[in-house]
Amino acid sequence: MRLYEMRPVRPTEVHRTDRFAELVCSNSLKSLELSTPHGLLKEEMAHLGSLVLECAFRTRVPAGGALAVDRERFSEEVTAAIASEPRITVVREEVCEIPEDGVVVLAVGPLVSPALAAAIGRFTGEDYLHFFDAIAPVIEADTIDRSLAFPASRYGKGGGEDYLNCPMNEDEYERFVAELLAGEKAPLHEMDRTPFFEGCLPIEEMARRGKHTLRFGPMKPVGLLDPRAGRRPHAVVQLRQDNLAAEHYSMVGFQTQLRWPEQKRVFRMIPGLEQAEFVRLGQIHRNCYINAPRVLLDTLQSRRRPRCSSPGRSRASRVTPSRPRRDCWRGSTRPGSRAASVPCAFPPTPCSALFAGTSPAPTPRTTSRPTPHSESSRSRSPARA
Ligand SMILES: Cc1cc2nc3c(=O)[nH]c(=O)nc-3n(C[C@H](O)[C@H](O)[C@H](O)COP(=O)(O)OP(=O)(O)OC[C@H]3O[C@@H](n4cnc5c(N)ncnc54)[C@H](O)[C@@H]3O)c2cc1C
Repeated sequence: MRLYEMRPVRPTEVHRTDRFAELVCSNSLKSLELSTPHGLLKEEMAHLGSLVLECAFRTRVPAGGALAVDRERFSEEVTAAIASEPRITVVREEVCEIPEDGVVVLAVGPLVSPALAAAIGRFTGEDYLHFFDAIAPVIEADTIDRSLAFPASRYGKGGGEDYLNCPMNEDEYERFVAELLAGEKAPLHEMDRTPFFEGCLPIEEMARRGKHTLRFGPMKPVGLLDPRAGRRPHAVVQLRQDNLAAEHYSMVGFQTQLRWPEQKRVFRMIPGLEQAEFVRLGQIHRNCYINAPRVLLDTLQSRRRPRCSSPGRSRASRVTPSRPRRDCWRGSTRPGSRAASVPCAFPPTPCSALFAGTSPAPTPRTTSRPTPHSESSRSRSPARA
């Protein structure tokens, strides 16, 4: 199997390394609780022996009821696992066209290179769809003022003290929101015509939607008690450990489009972050995706080449098997690192069926695995009930 990865020969705007499974934004793979869709997905992945999940647990950092990872160690583990697999040959090269021969799995993610994006557009006969997604800042741990930021997990979940919490009173919150709204944003040419991803809005866009939006969103104070004040704060900024050494903390839900100097100015208004030094600042980026319900079958096969299939038990996400057979490709059915890690985890998936020379079977609707049509099948899925 040949696995093509264009980094580091051709970098993306966001990735920083040449490793596989590099998390570009949040280091959280979200809840482990079975009562949530994220938890259910991970449970299914665990039962099926997901390598990605194994690596995540080996590099886990404290995050209450969520599974968060040391992003460096996590991608190192996945990269090492792929490197040690003798049946995979890694080719560091940009793929610019969809290969005509062989089984082809396209798992190029939202930052697909422009040449391949254009080729996929030609293949599907549709304009490539896109939206804007943003990245949250990461802070040097020893620049956080621990006399103000208190350790606690919401409702005492997980270790009970997994997050650092920067509390705000009403005045501090209102001043902060006013400066957030006044802050200068980085310009983006296509911004006027392109929507944000509603599941990951920039913090200033959330603030623009209403005075209390942040207090009921990423800055919600519920389940937290400020030990200094002896009561629940008016609002809270949560910081999540970003590496095992606890040297870095990421600002939870603080993805932003503010200019970098503005981020420093505005975020240093947060109690406990007055002296904050940033390991990484927020950014906003265009994400590409395909119109999966229109161009893919439920088996994740291309409609245009219906005998083809998609990611199988293969633990690599971008593979071109050397054994010639049929073509297949896929795109993300929904955004997010969690969902993206899933299709490769499930045997026997359409791609492994192709390798085995059998017919791909549709994704069972009773799993929480994302499919092109899972939105429409949601009400019929007991797993989501
Ligand atoms: C700015 C931004 C912020 C995000 N924030 C979050 C978040 O907070 N939480 C969350 O869950 N998800 C977030 N996402 C989404 C998440 O990153 C993706 O859904 C997930 O990484 C997709 O995984 P993937 O394996 O499909 O693609 P990727 O992890 O992107 O892997 C695709 C790989 O293909 C390579 N590639 C691209 N084009 C070519 C080519 N032509 N030839 C060869 N190789 C190529 C790329 O270099 C990359 O390594 C964010 C995405 C962006 C862009």
